Amino acid sequence: MLKKFKPSDAYMGRLEKGDDLLKELTNIVHQKKIEAASIKVIGAVQKAKIGYYDQDEFEYKYKEFDQALEIVSCIGNISILEGKPFIHAHIILADKEGNCYGGHLAEGSKVFAAEFVIQTFEGNKLMREFQDDTKLKLW
Ligand code: ZN
Repeated sequence: MLKKFKPSDAYMGRLEKGDDLLKELTNIVHQKKIEAASIKVIGAVQKAKIGYYDQDEFEYKYKEFDQALEIVSCIGNISILEGKPFIHAHIILADKEGNCYGGHLAEGSKVFAAEFVIQTFEGNKLMREFQDDTKLKLW
């Protein structure tokens, strides 16, 4: 699967302390009606929830961190799931020793500070659909 896009508007912004990282980014994407984009975030969280997709059981296993962590990198894309813009993002988090943890960004990650860039694209929207082999909704 391969589709061509042209870069369009880019947004840069900052989330507020206490925001839920994924929920607030999703609110922004819905408000701005962003349907195709890439997203990048750096900053820090007060706590985090990340997922790991178990490829044998075909389900996400979640891990929660109740501690301050740096957002070393968080990247993702925006496509359409069930008629609405949807953010799929992965995140790498570092503790004070520099140990890193990573996974699929889930709701439940509380922002300490977060700066983001959303690069939107023009072109055919990417529609997420259920895939039999992975049991995931992919584009
Ligand atoms: Zn993922």
